[in-house]
Amino acid sequence: MANQPIFILPEGTERYSKRDALRMNITAAKVLAGIVRTTLGPKGMDKMLTSSLGDVTVTNDGATIMREMEINQPAARMLVETAKKQEDIVGDGTTSVVVIAGELLSKAEELLDDGIATSIVVKGYRNATKKAVELLKEIAIDADDEETLKKVAVTAMSGKGSDYAKEHLADLVVEAALRIKEDGKSDIDNINIQRVSGDSVEDSFLAEGIILDKSPVSKNMPRDVRDAKIAIMKYPIELKNTNTDTKIDITSPDQFEAFLKQEEDMIKELVNKVIDSGVNVLFCQKGIDDMAEHYLKKAGIMAFKRVKKSDMERIEKATGAKLVTDIDDLSEDKLGKAGHVYLDKIFDHELTLIEECDNPKASSIILRGSTRYVTEQIARALDDALGVVAATIEEGKVLIGGGACEIDLVKQLREYGETVSGREQLAILKYAEALEVIPRTLIENAGLDTINLIADLKAAHEDNPFIGINVFEGKVVDMKEAGVIEPLRVKIQALQSAGEASEMILRIDDMIAARNALN
Ligand code: ADP
Repeated sequence: MANQPIFILPEGTERYSKRDALRMNITAAKVLAGIVRTTLGPKGMDKMLTSSLGDVTVTNDGATIMREMEINQPAARMLVETAKKQEDIVGDGTTSVVVIAGELLSKAEELLDDGIATSIVVKGYRNATKKAVELLKEIAIDADDEETLKKVAVTAMSGKGSDYAKEHLADLVVEAALRIKEDGKSDIDNINIQRVSGDSVEDSFLAEGIILDKSPVSKNMPRDVRDAKIAIMKYPIELKNTNTDTKIDITSPDQFEAFLKQEEDMIKELVNKVIDSGVNVLFCQKGIDDMAEHYLKKAGIMAFKRVKKSDMERIEKATGAKLVTDIDDLSEDKLGKAGHVYLDKIFDHELTLIEECDNPKASSIILRGSTRYVTEQIARALDDALGVVAATIEEGKVLIGGGACEIDLVKQLREYGETVSGREQLAILKYAEALEVIPRTLIENAGLDTINLIADLKAAHEDNPFIGINVFEGKVVDMKEAGVIEPLRVKIQALQSAGEASEMILRIDDMIAARNALN
């Protein structure tokens, strides 16, 4: 009995404890960081990803790469979540977060090898993150003028496939963001990027109001409506019960007639509810069947079916229409207004434009590009640019990029570390060392001499905190003058997220996984 094994976990469960778990997780995080780090900066390379369905994505956007990679290892997945959070909160800096977290963990491994307890590493890292955030706030510059916003947009788009047109795109982004600015904020959900493949990126332009890649359900419906009274509805104008399982016994032509008549009456009743509300433009998130289409057309209503949820939300905001989920609730007070709703051909592509909205805080960027891959890649760059411009408008504080602010942090964190006593000091110094990974990677990705340039950077920082790397010429230069500018918020969020993620991974000392979960 004494030697009888006791099973407390199901057969096949894998368990890794203490150092094994930690090593495994750190290695996974380092591998992930190693994959995305080659994409960092203006000289970063792209990744080509093919999904199980054969869809190809070419990108160097950290969040997109990690989303498409379908990562299984749990610690690496935690890093993916961190990058996603960064994307959701500030819209940029996703690659940086993962690269920094990977380096923090790599340095933590060195500390653990030297016999320093995990709890000391975690404490040191936490204090270092706090101090780093304070320091970033101190070195941040107050600026939210149009010129700065444009530089911020250009920096965010660097190396994301749009470089040849980034000045033009930055103008569009800044104009769009300022147009919707309200109470010191720009809600970028009010800007939609409408991709139209064909021609060149330089032909992209900004349009007032909302643009939908949709046409009315029937060609014979009105194509140009002035003083539009708009309904947005999440209720199908279809017969509900005609699914394939329905069995109807009809024994005479009369019965058949009666049945059709009954169906027609039901549809007529639904359409009459729409007509009675006084609507002349209807956006329906669900389906509209052929018979309903006929009656709507007869009533002179411009109707759209299967409109995307995000478009519905945009129409709701811009026109003041209230989403109706039950057709019985459709009434005049739920309708929104727009001065002009019409169809237009933009480069052979028919789109619907909603202009002169009641609330004009909406604009659309019509993005052109030679192929779908080009427009997809540039749309992601535009998204990042919109995020950083909005963050700068809201916060009014920026930092100097190209490795400048990181080198400054390394220097100041070292000085801070010297003032901390005990083994925690070692963790703070390693943290400072880890932040060098950003300038170092920018240099590496440009194929330049890392050792010499890092030494040049550090030496130049004795006199000028804005010195960073000109990755195109392989020189250290004043990045403020070069216009490489990023919002404070992106950098702060990146450090906090990377710090939290590495702490979370370091704290795990036992991994218990169901059979095959880790394969
Ligand atoms: P992320 O997803 O982290 O934003 P990016 O690939 O956009 O990654 O790279 C951002 C980094 O590139 C930042 O550190 C930024 O300062 C740097 N960077 C951007 N433009 C330039 C430039 N023209 N010269 C040098 N560094 C730049």
